[in-house]
Amino acid sequence: ALELHGVHLRFGANTVLKGLNLKVSPGEVACIIGPSGSGKSTLLRCVAMLEEGFEGEIRIFGESTNHLGRRPWIRPNPATGGAVVGMVFQSFNLWPHMTAARNITAPLELVKGLSKDDALSLAADMLAKVGLKDKADAYPDQLSGGQKQRVAIARALAMKPRIMLFDEATSALDPELVGEVLAVMRNLAEEGMTMLVVTHEMSFAQRVADRVIFMDDGQVVEDGSPDMVLRNPREARTQAFLSAIS
Ligand code: ATP
Ligand code: MG
Repeated sequence: ALELHGVHLRFGANTVLKGLNLKVSPGEVACIIGPSGSGKSTLLRCVAMLEEGFEGEIRIFGESTNHLGRRPWIRPNPATGGAVVGMVFQSFNLWPHMTAARNITAPLELVKGLSKDDALSLAADMLAKVGLKDKADAYPDQLSGGQKQRVAIARALAMKPRIMLFDEATSALDPELVGEVLAVMRNLAEEGMTMLVVTHEMSFAQRVADRVIFMDDGQVVEDGSPDMVLRNPREARTQAFLSAIS
């Protein structure tokens, strides 16, 4: 579903991604772990076509994204009638002056050209899917952090992406709100969504991921099953990281 071949990215003199090779199969959930500054967010941003100027190639369902320029993740995707990639960030990025429903319908109308009624009915379905059926008319400041993040997930899903990217989606949440967001992510995984998830939640990675990828210094250091990477890491760098966070 997703392939990276020799992806390099430099910011000025600073090489941030140093030849990444990675493959995520359809329906697979891959969790990325690694120290701060190792390039995890930059990797996701390259896949989401938010970064230009990398070397190497990124292919999504067989199609190279290199020639597409920035932000075709909002570009209609012929295979699904939706977007190629959906992304959820640590900070929910909801529009504060719009209701939950409007946060979802606005891009559907503006980007995908859906009618108001079709957009509203899809928004209702997506809010129900994330357990927020009754919050359609709430504004972001009337929602908890966990609810806001679930609206952000619903908004991404409404675009019918083929791959979902999560960048520390639960890191800004109070601890008691983390579970409800992880539960939504786990449901998505069980439905067969292809997912690339940057997370500090090792129990989520252990239970939900098909693969765990440890990144350090712009490289994939280790890539394998959760049991291999989290319980029996081969590489000293992985071992050091895991013992520092546990
Ligand atoms: P964290 O766990 O703290 O989120 P990360 O693994 O996501 O870290 P990145 O945000 O991908 O790390 O950053 C990797 C490196 O790239 C860092 O050294 C960062 O300073 C640098 N970097 C990221 N974005 C830019 C940018 N737009 N311009 C210059 N340098 C950048
Ligand atoms: Mg990051």
